[in-house]
Amino acid sequence: MAIHYRCRHCETEVGLLPFDSEESVRKLHQLNEEEAEQYIHKDHNGDTTVDCICEHCEESLKQFPDYYALKKWLQ
Ligand SMILES: [Zn+2]
Repeated sequence: MAIHYRCRHCETEVGLLPFDSEESVRKLHQLNEEEAEQYIHKDHNGDTTVDCICEHCEESLKQFPDYYALKKWLQ
């Protein structure tokens, strides 16, 4: 069984990790039950997908506050 990691912003598959269960994912990311429900999804053919963020979107999000600040500064 493998766990798919998918970017929750652009839906790109970020990676595939050879975990054997949802439980391993929860332990790795130290998710509580609520968070696990939010980020870990099981689809109908038994695959497990974890919502995460890809490098590209992470960069954009990191840049966004600067962009916002700049816009404010320009006004
Ligand atoms: Zn992305």
